[in-house]
Amino acid sequence: MQLIIMGAPGAGKGTQAAKLVAKYGIPQISTGDMFRMAVKSGSELGKAAKSCMESGKLVPDEVTIGIVRERLGKADCAKGFILDGFPRTVAQAEALKVILADLGKSLTCVLNVNVPSSELIERAIGRRICKACGATYHIKFNAPIKENICDICGGELYQRADDTAETMANRLRVYEASTRPLIEYYKGIGLYEEIDGCQRIEQVTKDMMSVLANRGA
Ligand SMILES: [Zn+2]
Repeated sequence: MQLIIMGAPGAGKGTQAAKLVAKYGIPQISTGDMFRMAVKSGSELGKAAKSCMESGKLVPDEVTIGIVRERLGKADCAKGFILDGFPRTVAQAEALKVILADLGKSLTCVLNVNVPSSELIERAIGRRICKACGATYHIKFNAPIKENICDICGGELYQRADDTAETMANRLRVYEASTRPLIEYYKGIGLYEEIDGCQRIEQVTKDMMSVLANRGA
């Protein structure tokens, strides 16, 4: 089962990816982890990526694609994988298709955990975090028993500086503009699946699993 998982910041993509990892026993592969692993391995591709990152340059596509190729060829990907954060562009999506074909595989589908911007903004501005233990709350959906006090440790809750409506709206606009071509691309080749991310966590997971079952995964 070869999956791509997508979702805007705060849509719950990470939570859902973890459910799929547990259910299907396949690794979640994020771009960040992949790069760290490549750099650590000291391979030519790793060295190339490292020198770009150190000089603050964008890592060229051929290096990124080479790193993806190496990673997806590893033994733990034999049963499948969940890609997270790659591809970012249509060119990378085309390259992924070639990599998978070389491995005798193809994409099962692209899952997009979809939550409207208005809801994501509401989630962000209500988020509160414990200064002491890091537990997270939401003033509306998951309120602490005592206002501004952590249920677990009694610590004081705070709001992150970037959890404002304005910052969030900006992040979401950038995210949407950058992912739109990719979504159109996968829609065009019949691999795109939109999951309603506004539901309870368990229901979102159920929906994903029934989509995957329908695709024979
Ligand atoms: Zn706490």
